[in-house]
Amino acid sequence: RTHFTDDARIAIDTLAKRATSLVSPSIRLGVTGLSRAGKTVFISSLVHNLLHGGRLPLFEAHQSGRIARAYLEPQPDDAVPRFQYEEHIATMLEKRIWPDSTRAISQLRVTIEYESASLWNKLLPGGKLSLDIVDYPGEWLLDLPLLGKDFAAFSRDSAELAELPSRADLATDWHMLADGIDPDAPANEGLAQQLATSFADYLRLCKNDSRALSTLPPGRFLMPGDLEGSPALTFAPLTRLSEVVRPGSMQAMMERRYEAYKTHVVRPFFRNHVARLDRQIVLIDVMQAMNAGHEAVVDLERALADILSCFRAGKGNFLTDLFIPRIDRILIAATKADHIHHESHRRLEAIVRRLTERVIARADLSGAGVEVIAMAAVRATREATVKERTGSLPVIVGTPMAGETIADETFDGETETAIFPGDLPEKPASVFQPGTAEAPAPIRFVRFRPPQLEETEDGVKLSLPHIRLDRALQYLIGDQLV
Ligand code: GDP
Repeated sequence: RTHFTDDARIAIDTLAKRATSLVSPSIRLGVTGLSRAGKTVFISSLVHNLLHGGRLPLFEAHQSGRIARAYLEPQPDDAVPRFQYEEHIATMLEKRIWPDSTRAISQLRVTIEYESASLWNKLLPGGKLSLDIVDYPGEWLLDLPLLGKDFAAFSRDSAELAELPSRADLATDWHMLADGIDPDAPANEGLAQQLATSFADYLRLCKNDSRALSTLPPGRFLMPGDLEGSPALTFAPLTRLSEVVRPGSMQAMMERRYEAYKTHVVRPFFRNHVARLDRQIVLIDVMQAMNAGHEAVVDLERALADILSCFRAGKGNFLTDLFIPRIDRILIAATKADHIHHESHRRLEAIVRRLTERVIARADLSGAGVEVIAMAAVRATREATVKERTGSLPVIVGTPMAGETIADETFDGETETAIFPGDLPEKPASVFQPGTAEAPAPIRFVRFRPPQLEETEDGVKLSLPHIRLDRALQYLIGDQLV
């Protein structure tokens, strides 16, 4: 009986929903993560699998055969660039190279027609859900704390971070230049440009492969979108500050531009985009950080905390005067799990869980559910075992990209190769601690080319292979397709 009543209630709800919405129901899914985390690859593969009926056993609506069809439709927001899905897929499938990464915000609408799972709803015409996928750089979220800081505080905080041992040597040039600037001297455009360039260079250096530090604000310095070269970006923190700001001085100019950046760049982004998201996936490249050492891991934890705080609905948030975030589900996903053998996937997930535990506690995401997953949006490798004298070794097999190296070997981009990636540490905590005897050995990490699509016996190409993309889909939109 309970079942009957529940079903009836859902049916009435659904009917009411459909009757009241003139357009079909839609849900906005934000896809973010720091640059190179895997946003472009994730969206391309997700859409490819939806459109072409990929292997998605854990995506319930698909597995039970309730999805009638999925297709692309024009997006609702005319002012936002469209996510270049077709181009990205062609790059991956035809050239077998990775597509261009996310540089700015973009959007894509996939509409899913499905049959309801409930008995009562089956009597209604089929349901329709439009999934609006919004791709945007995680760097832009890191700007949120700026809304609560004036220029002096921003300068002091930036200088403090630049003095950390992991960053200090990279910040030398900017520091020297900034130290030579008299805040009371007359505003000088040339000098402002020099200083902004040198600060952006320092932020860029932090991101290089060996350091792999996460970005610091201002987020648009590395991901300018369409603002490249505009005055709103031609500022930088100063190391010498005057108590009383003289009109027309260097400090006055920097301060004005910093405030303009907040007003014209940061606030509208949160108001127009983040505020309207219903669900969010945050992609992180944990393995890259781990390979660079514990400082990069701790730094990733900091960046993730800053990112998640943007979705917090609670009090004491700079956002409350802007909007109340309405995201009710957040998925934190470690990508590129195809770089390790599945025996290590659990360990990867344990590391991500550990990485996010403290962050989640701090971010006070009351009202939103948070899940953690290790996945590969595109699986570029397969698994095998290699027999050794001492036993068998779990390896992954793929085609390393041309120029990738391991030990003394350089790959040509054509040959399939078996690689023993190494084991992830058993104790997640060891990843966060400075090098001890227990410190994890780096994973043997090469970038592989995107895979060749498998074909069925009658020559039909399958969708892009993945690891647990279906679990991600189920969590993010499964409940909307009942
Ligand atoms: P974005 O900056 O977040 O858009 O990052 P991309 O989606 O462009 O991904 C950056 C790079 O990471 C790609 O060029 C690939 O080399 C790699 N990558 C991303 N996702 C995957 C994945 O699922 N599997 C593998 N093997 N590599 C991936």
